Amino acid sequence: MSGNEMEYIKEAFDTNWIAPLGPNVEAFEKDIAEYAGVNGAVAVSSGTAAIHLALSLLGVQKGDVVFCSSLTFVASANPILYLGAEPVFIDAEPDTWNMSPSALEKAMNDAISACKLPKAVIIVNLYGQSAKMEELVSICNKYAVPIIEDSAESLGSRYNGIASGTFGEFGIFSFNGNKIITTSGGGVLISNNTDALRKARFLAAQAREPAPYYQHCEMGFNYRMSNVLAGIGRSQLQVLNERVAARRAIFETYYQELAHLPGIQFMPELVNTFSNRWLTALTIDYSKTNVSVNEILASMDKENIEARHVWKPLHLQPLMETYTYYPHSERESVSEKLFETGICLPSGSNMSIKDQMRVIQTIKNTIYKKFEKETCQR
Ligand SMILES: *Cc1c(COP(=O)(O)O)cnc(C)c1O
Repeated sequence: MSGNEMEYIKEAFDTNWIAPLGPNVEAFEKDIAEYAGVNGAVAVSSGTAAIHLALSLLGVQKGDVVFCSSLTFVASANPILYLGAEPVFIDAEPDTWNMSPSALEKAMNDAISACKLPKAVIIVNLYGQSAKMEELVSICNKYAVPIIEDSAESLGSRYNGIASGTFGEFGIFSFNGNKIITTSGGGVLISNNTDALRKARFLAAQAREPAPYYQHCEMGFNYRMSNVLAGIGRSQLQVLNERVAARRAIFETYYQELAHLPGIQFMPELVNTFSNRWLTALTIDYSKTNVSVNEILASMDKENIEARHVWKPLHLQPLMETYTYYPHSERESVSEKLFETGICLPSGSNMSIKDQMRVIQTIKNTIYKKFEKETCQR
């Protein structure tokens, strides 16, 4: 928390606006839309809810197909299943770790041949890095398939100077506790289509028709954000740019200290993009370090340091492994390789340099010790 949240929370309490909706929600939506440079925003209870709404607004139904990045958190694709639709997973490419334009093109060509285009494409911006939007947008435009940009991890990032989340028909951000700013739990749907956003507000509030009694013609959801949490969001948004700077500085320190080690490669930042560096991620080439991701994670765990694997691709998840998957090329599945070799380092905005050096030293020790042991044995 930044310290100013209590002011807005107090305002909500003082005015007794504790219900969903209220002045903080409206103000938060306005602030988010302004920040991203879009016509409007609808604040909801989670990023997952925002994806569910976006898919519903695009008319996704049982039996429809939706393309989705494979290298992501399960929440990107779960709403496809909520609607009884079928996900088709698209691999990543090495420059951004995000959706591969060549795999998307191949999937689109096959869909055209089968006379069944997807109803939508969900493009994820992993760990703050924007996908290759120009290429991806142009492929989707060619087939007139709408894009939902899952920017849950990339609030504050830019592509060609334009805010992440604004390249599709809809974009979503998450304010879950682990994201770059948080309302403890929450999300937002953004778009330039104000009619669609009006419909989103309606659906997110149980699709209650304007009538003197409770009248319902459509199935809705209980997805609106509470006025108290929106108060937290308003104040968090004011420190977003500071948070991005802090995360980028954390990345920079890791990079300075570790990038020179043979076999260590950091997640790239594509030219003309600006990543919020939500998490610092890197890959370890076992043939050069002689140390596996699991060995690094184990030695971190021993030091009480929490580090993680890169997301396990969704096409490998038992829940979703039966669905079709398009690799980057016939010979190369980039997301699988990143999962095998990738690691996310502790990256909290308030991390001290002392803590960061402890993480760095643990990684170095693990690699050096193994090296020493093997050279001495020889
Ligand atoms: C966090 C996250 C979500 C879901 O957001 P919630 O607010 O937790 O529902 C969706 N997609 C990605 C890529 C995420 O990291």
